[in-house]
Amino acid sequence: MADQIPGFNTLAIHAGAAPDAATGARATPIYQTTSFVFDDVDHAASLFGLQAFGNIYTRIGNPTCAVLEERVAALEGGTAALGVASGHAAQFLVMHALLQPGDEFVAANKLYGGSINQFNHSYKNFDWRVKWADADDPASFEAAITSRTKAIFIESIANPGGVIVDIAAISKIAKAKNIPLIVDNTMASPYLIRPFEHGADIVVHSATKFLGGHGNSIAGIIVDGGTFNWTGDERYPMLSKPRPEYGGMVLGETFGNFAFAIACRVLGLRDLGPALSPFNAFMILTGIETLPLRMQRQSDSTLAVARHLAANDKVSWVSYPGLESDKYHALAQRYCPLGAGAVFTFGVKGGYEAGVKLVSNLKLFSHLANIGDTRSLVIHPASTTHRQLTEEQQVTAGAGPDVVRLSIGLEDPEDLIADLDQALAG
Ligand SMILES: *Cc1c(COP(=O)(O)O)cnc(C)c1O
Repeated sequence: MADQIPGFNTLAIHAGAAPDAATGARATPIYQTTSFVFDDVDHAASLFGLQAFGNIYTRIGNPTCAVLEERVAALEGGTAALGVASGHAAQFLVMHALLQPGDEFVAANKLYGGSINQFNHSYKNFDWRVKWADADDPASFEAAITSRTKAIFIESIANPGGVIVDIAAISKIAKAKNIPLIVDNTMASPYLIRPFEHGADIVVHSATKFLGGHGNSIAGIIVDGGTFNWTGDERYPMLSKPRPEYGGMVLGETFGNFAFAIACRVLGLRDLGPALSPFNAFMILTGIETLPLRMQRQSDSTLAVARHLAANDKVSWVSYPGLESDKYHALAQRYCPLGAGAVFTFGVKGGYEAGVKLVSNLKLFSHLANIGDTRSLVIHPASTTHRQLTEEQQVTAGAGPDVVRLSIGLEDPEDLIADLDQALAG
C-alpha cells in the first residue's frame, strides 16, 4: 500500500487534507480569521522575510485556502498553487508576474467573453498588449510572437464550449521560443484534461465553475507546473531579478520549481489584494470531492442531449466535440477521451426570435449567465451577454442570433431532453 500512487478520485477527496491537528475535525475546518499569532519575534521576522512558510494574514496564507491549493496542485500535477478571489483575479496575477509595461502576450481568439474584455480593455491601463491568434491554427501563434512576447494564453476546451484546442502543438511553439504557456482549464477541469501533461507551464481556473460545481462561490486558482526555468532570464524581472520588496531576494533562485506560485502570492496577491475567502475555499473543496463523479455524469448527459438535439428538425446545427460528426471530434478523442465537457452551443431555426422563445419556454433549465452548476443552465447570447455587438460581431464571436448555449447539470438526462423538446415545439 505504501508504494501505491493515489488515483484521481482519491486525490480529489484527500490531497492536501489531514485531520485537524488541534481538534481532530475530519472535514477541513473553515479558518475564518484574518490573521495568525506568531510564536515569537524571530518567527514573525522569518515569516516576513520568506525564510519560513506559515500564516501571517489571510490575504497571503490561510490553512483552509492552503488545503484547496494543495488539492488542485495535486489534481493538475503541478508543483504548487495559489487560491484567489476569482478566475479573473487568477489571470490578472499571472500576467502581473510575467509582464512589464509595453510587453505583449499572444492569446487564442476563442476565449470566455470576460477574458476577451479583460485582455482588450483592462490590461491597456498597464500597457500589457494582447495579440490575437486563431485557436484552431497553431502556426498563427508563432506568427504573432515578437521579441516582446512574454506569454501565450489559451483555453483547453474553449468557451462557449465545442472547441478543443491543440495544447501540445501550441506548447511546441512556446517551448521553441522559450515562452511560458498558460492554459485556462476551467471548462475541462483536471478530470477531463491535465494541461501539464501536454506541455503547459501554468494552469488557471475559474473555480467558480466546475471545480466548485454548485453555483455557490466565486474563486480562482493559479497552478505552477514547475516546468519553466526563470533563473537568469532577464525578460522576467519579477522572478529573475533581486526584489526590493524582499531585501533583494531572487524568487526564481530561492524557490526553484515553485517560484512562479510564490511570485503570484508574495508580489501579486500581497500587493494587489484579491484574496480568496476561507469560506469559499471550503465550498470549492467540498465541490472538488465529487468532481470526478460530476464531470463524468455531466459529460455523458451532455452527449445524450447533444445527440438528441442533432436529430430535432427545429435545430439547424449542434456544436459538441463528443459527436462523431463534429469538427473537433478527433482532438476530443486525443485530449479528453473521458468526455468533452458539459457546455455546448446549438442553432435554432428561426434565428433571434426562436432563440428568445426557446429560453422563455424552458422550465427545468435556468436562464442565467454561468456554467458548471449541478443545475442545467441556458443562455441566448445575442439577447444577453453579446447584445451590445452588431450582428456581424456576434456571428464572429460564435454568438449569432440563432445560437443557444447550454450547460448540462446532474438532472436525469431524460427530463432535460423532454424540457428541450417541449420548449422547441412550443
Ligand atoms: C468564468 C470564467 C472565467 C472568469 O472567472 P470568474 O471566476 O468569473 O472571475 C475565466 N475563464 C473561463 C473559461 C470562465 O468560464
